[in-house]
Parts: sequence; structure tokens; C-alpha cells
Amino acid sequence: MAKRITPGQIRRTNRQQVFQYIYDEKKVSQQDIAYALQLSRPTVAAALTEMEEMGMILKSGYLDSDQIGRKAAAYSIDETFRVAVGVEIMRSRVKFVAADLYGRMLGREIWDFPYANEQVYFSQVSEKILAFIHKLSLPDEKILGIGIAIQGLVNADGSEVVYGTILDCTGLKIEVFTRHLPFPCTFVHDPDAAAISEIWCSPELKNAYYLSMSRHLGGSIIYNRRIVIGRDGRSTLFEHIVVRPEGKPCYCGKRGCLETICSMSALLGDEDPDVFFAALRTGGSAEKTRWTAYLMDVALMAESLYLLYDMDVILGGHLAAYLREEDLDFLRQAIRERCPFPVTGDFLLLSKMPSHNITMGAALYFLQKYLREVGT
Ligand SMILES: [Zn+2]
Repeated sequence: MAKRITPGQIRRTNRQQVFQYIYDEKKVSQQDIAYALQLSRPTVAAALTEMEEMGMILKSGYLDSDQIGRKAAAYSIDETFRVAVGVEIMRSRVKFVAADLYGRMLGREIWDFPYANEQVYFSQVSEKILAFIHKLSLPDEKILGIGIAIQGLVNADGSEVVYGTILDCTGLKIEVFTRHLPFPCTFVHDPDAAAISEIWCSPELKNAYYLSMSRHLGGSIIYNRRIVIGRDGRSTLFEHIVVRPEGKPCYCGKRGCLETICSMSALLGDEDPDVFFAALRTGGSAEKTRWTAYLMDVALMAESLYLLYDMDVILGGHLAAYLREEDLDFLRQAIRERCPFPVTGDFLLLSKMPSHNITMGAALYFLQKYLREVGT
């Protein structure tokens, strides 16, 4: 027997459409909504009343209407109706952000607190998250969830770190946080968090390799504005492709992985990047030699990815903030010289969100989910 659509489902669908339209247009009248969505005025009025009562939208001034001398009430999303929190766990510090429904940062904090795979660490980080939320005067019911970005591979539902050699946290379960926090929590592999940020702030982005070039190398494959997730719940581990079998040891146990030649630690070791780039940009010749050799290795990596599937390569991560247009031109030229096939356009791009991208991406994980499901 064919399933009937219930009046409740129709109401939810209408509400979802109206919410999405107001969200996209920012400030609209009832008439605009009815016209754009081809819904009757009473249907729109009912959806607006319902959402206003729920606190999802608010009246925000007036707009000119078709009728001369009359103004129509304008509706906007209450951008703090729901918020999400992003946490980034690093070896020596923890970062926190909170973001509203438009992905705007409401607050940010960095806490120097070395990682330890111990209960006391997780309870103290949880306390700090609660204090951060409290400081921003955000009531619990507004919090969509806590995205926890971590340097480790996570399983498909974000409940467990399945490979965490960098922090020695393999097998870590999300319960270490959820037992202290009254919110949904999920782990997010850190390059995936960065890729989520890139998608969020690049409306034109469709398909690309996103490379997270920080102390460690990582990346995600973006296809049709979504991160491609494979059989085991991960995107890509291209950083562990061996390019120099006799090369330096990698933390994964192999030798000569791309991680060992193209990560920032491969370039700098424990050197301060600010110091290195200041010397490079003021004509340091030793720095120039190292930088050129490094860029040639990055060209090798980008060309390999391009040969695998010819889509844009976005250079992101901590390194992106130091890259200049002249570096990109050098890389593009080096790739064209390496690649025996025609390479069209500027397929090598710089990240549009080089800072706070991992922490924000962890928060955006929950915002994206909410916006997809809103009103349902
Ligand atoms: Zn490796």
C-alpha cells in the first residue's frame, strides 16, 4: 500500500523550505517567501508563526512592499538559535571555538595543556569546554554538539579513534568526553575538519584535493562539495604513499612517505616557521635553497595527485598562511615541466581559510548537519 504523506510531514517540509530560504536570503518578507517558493500566503504565515514561536526566526525591521506607502515585516534567522562548538586537540594545547548558524565565530580560546591519554586529561578538557560555553552565556539547549578534531583516523560515526599514532591514542572512545558533557560529541579527523571549513567558505568549490600542510601532512578528497569517505570511513591517506623507499622513517612505520618530505616538520624540524619565513623573505640564501628543494617535492606530490584524478589541488593547513603568489607560480611552473600531459588553468589554489580552519571545521560539522536536517 502506498504511504500517505501526513499533514505533519507537509508542515515540516514547508518549514524546512521557508527556513532555508530565509537563511540564504538573510532578510525577506512573507510575500517574497510565498513568491519564491510558490507557497500560499496562509501556508507561509503558518510556517513563520511556528518558527517565530520556536525562536528560529525573528522579525527584523521592515522592507518596502509592492503596495505604495506600506512596509512589509522582514524576517531573519536568529543566528544564535543554535550554535556549535569545535575543539582541536593537539599535542601541547587545546583550541576551542563556538560558531553561530552562519558559521561566524562567537568566541575562541587556546589553552596550553599537553595531551595525555588519561581520564584526568579528558575530564579537565571537558570542564574547560563547559566553562567556555558558560563564558559565552550559551544555554545548553542551543548547543548542537561538540566536534572534536584530533590527529588520528576516526571510524565512520566519529565515535572512536582507530589509528592515533601521533598522539598515541588508538582506540580512544568518544565516551571519554560524553560522560562529562551533556551534548552530542564526535571525533573528526583533523584534515577532514579543515576540508569542511574550506567547503563552507568557498561557494564555488566543487571537486578538489584539499591538502592540510601543517606540522603533519594530511588531506581530504572533496567531490560535489562533500568529503569522499571510503570503505573504512576515511577519505585519503595519500601522505603515506611512499615516494622514496630508502628515505626517512615515517611515524607510520614505513620509510620515505610523502609525510617525510612535504610536511612542515620535514621542512622545518622543530624550527619556528615565523623565523624561517622571515629569513627567507628577506633574502636568506640557505633558507632559499631549502625552500626551493621543498617546493620541488610539493610539486611532485601535487603532480602525482593530478595524475590520479585531474581536479584542483588546494594547499591549506598552517603552511598556507606563509605561501605567496610567487610560490604558487613556481609550483605551477614546476608541475607543468614535470607533467607530460597538458595541464590547463591554475589548478593549484591557496586555501581561503588558512587559520582556525580545523577548530572551525569541527564546529561546522554540526552546523552542516543541522542545516541539512532543520525542521525535520
Ligand atoms: Zn607514513
